[in-house]
Amino acid sequence: MTTFNDFGLHADINRALAAKDYTTPTPIQTQAIPPLMKGRDLCGIAQTGTGKTAGFSLPSIHHLITYPHKTNPRSCRMLVLAPTRELAAQIAQSCRDYGRFTKLRVSTVFGGVPINKQIRDLAQGVEILVATPGRLLDLIDQRALRLDDVEIFVLDEADQMMDMGFIHSLRRIAKLLPSRRQNLFFSATMPKEIAHLAEQFLEDPVTVSVTPAATTVEKISQFSTFVEQKEKQALLHSVIASEDIDRALIFTRTKHGADRVVRHLAGAGIKAMAIHGNKSQSQRTHALQAFRSGEIKLLVATDIAARGIDVSGVSHVINFEIPNVPEQYVHRIGRTARAGAEGKAISFIAPDERPYMRDIERVTRSKSAPMPLPENFNELVRNLPKPAQPPRDTGSKGRDPNRQRQDAMRGRNGGAGKPQGERGPRRDGAPGEAAEGQRKRRFRPRNKSVGAHKGAVKRVQG
Ligand code: AMP
Repeated sequence: MTTFNDFGLHADINRALAAKDYTTPTPIQTQAIPPLMKGRDLCGIAQTGTGKTAGFSLPSIHHLITYPHKTNPRSCRMLVLAPTRELAAQIAQSCRDYGRFTKLRVSTVFGGVPINKQIRDLAQGVEILVATPGRLLDLIDQRALRLDDVEIFVLDEADQMMDMGFIHSLRRIAKLLPSRRQNLFFSATMPKEIAHLAEQFLEDPVTVSVTPAATTVEKISQFSTFVEQKEKQALLHSVIASEDIDRALIFTRTKHGADRVVRHLAGAGIKAMAIHGNKSQSQRTHALQAFRSGEIKLLVATDIAARGIDVSGVSHVINFEIPNVPEQYVHRIGRTARAGAEGKAISFIAPDERPYMRDIERVTRSKSAPMPLPENFNELVRNLPKPAQPPRDTGSKGRDPNRQRQDAMRGRNGGAGKPQGERGPRRDGAPGEAAEGQRKRRFRPRNKSVGAHKGAVKRVQG
């Protein structure tokens, strides 16, 4: 069995791993660390929860301390791109933890918070910078940062980046990177479009896959109930009352849908919080902390807000609405059944969502067991408590529901732009509402001759 000592990592890193009580590398770490130590490019097909962050940051930190040099002002030696602020913050924290016995400086930059402090943080240069693409470009445009000195470039959650319309930002960033660099590319899923994107960034990569979709899905007991859209709230109350829930993530397709669910639950005296792109950074952090600490058992989330978030002990994933992209379903239910724990996914399927569920079952090669409506369901529907009134200040950041992603695009076109693929069909009665996670890829590869998969392909169980 491989141990961390087998990798030949710097002693300061091994000390940090011991302090964190990591004894055995996870499968992706075992597969990814040796080629990364040799300077190879890597294409990792892995979800959050597999230990991929340590998989890419440990060998990178090793490189940075083994080959030290003074950083130039307004530059970084390692650049990690992540699609959301939460994921960026999480990665930066991991790098700080793994590098705690070194002098490496780690900075995080993302939108939604004042830029000036980030400009100051970067003034002297840093070794590791974790960023969301929009804010990164803002900083570059303001001449607060240059990418000429990047030695290691990591693109995390590439499929999510595409979903969020970051493709143009990524292309721009790619042009600013020096040609000699090590590249690491991670994605939970690898449909054709993402493989093409990988081709643009990687050179002769080693490919490691730890989460074949079907395997992930098989570990989770899946149930589904046919129900009218307008009766879903009553069903949710019934599920919450009858299931033995430690922590449940409830997914809606839209931000306003998430808020509605929380208000309905509050009306029945059930405590829950929502996390989505219209919430302020402090509200999102607060909700996540409350969920992590167990203060609240129910977190209502949109796909984008929930991706990449690592919360252990999620016993249930409830699909209040069904995603129209099968991979999104895999991402959602992958939040449960972490590290061998039991997990349960329950899907509420309205008549117009049945085709989506059929697609999901085809792609995941799995079938969910029917969960019948409770016997007293009509009564539950009739007696459903009224939703709580929305608070006057909902924490919404103004009238523009797409602000988070617009912020991400600002560096590209002065803030007027809107990433592709963010408006979804109305599905839950909220007029003209933006559906998060609506996938639409228009990206075409520039260079078809470079194969993302021409390196060694290693498949291991995640
Ligand atoms: P990640 O997929 O990188 O977000 O990691 C998921 C979780 O696993 C994080 O909470 C890590 O701290 C933890 N983790 C990563 N590698 C190991 C390991 N080798 N042993 C124990 N825990 C780990």
